[in-house]
Amino acid sequence: MVRSRRELAAILSRAPLFPYPKRGLEQYVTDGETASELLWEAYMRGDIRGRVVLDLGCGTGVLAVGSAILGADHVICLDVDEGALVEAYRWAHSEGVLDRLSYVAMLVPDVWMRAVDTIVMNPPFGVYRRGADTMFLRTALKLRPRAIYTIHMSDRGTREVVRRTAQGAGYAAQILSTRSIMIPQLYESHRRRVYRVTVDLYHISAGE
Ligand code: SAH
Repeated sequence: MVRSRRELAAILSRAPLFPYPKRGLEQYVTDGETASELLWEAYMRGDIRGRVVLDLGCGTGVLAVGSAILGADHVICLDVDEGALVEAYRWAHSEGVLDRLSYVAMLVPDVWMRAVDTIVMNPPFGVYRRGADTMFLRTALKLRPRAIYTIHMSDRGTREVVRRTAQGAGYAAQILSTRSIMIPQLYESHRRRVYRVTVDLYHISAGE
């Protein structure tokens, strides 16, 4: 267990990189500061400790491992990329939280699972595959969790889509904060380039 968000951020900044990044899946690792902010908010609201948490599109596991460190009962790490899942598995082992994680290789939106309390995710932003962000959000809502903590591009169109999609499922979306993050170039093959994007961190919950 960690004592502060800062301590959590330091651990999460050790998340492994993707072994074979696939551009079509918009793979990049969420930085420790952003991941710890999202998880700390969830933790403070009582949505992590003792809960069943699903990390949708977990990649190498930054949000899943963070949830386990914050005391989740059981964390399900779901991604279509098996190579990324192996990295997530190894890292969870080295952080000593493997006993509370499960791994599922599956394609969103073809996911069904019952009894999930909380969903944490940093989904594809839909830059490469238009609408991938909304597809993740719809899939999360379909599972009827108590709360969803998610990250999306910060622009007026996306904000409206997130708000309406949540509302359509009987949930309310609230922006927790707006941050600037560095992500790899997603359009061109030149992998070394990174660029800055502004994102919103959301708390989506039922009946607020
Ligand atoms: N959540 C991780 C990874 C973010 S990158 C982190 O915060 O570091 C987005 C992730 O979504 C990648 O791991 C990618 O493999 C996964 N992904 C993209 N499309 C997917 C789909 N249709 N089904 C399942 N996983 C998908």
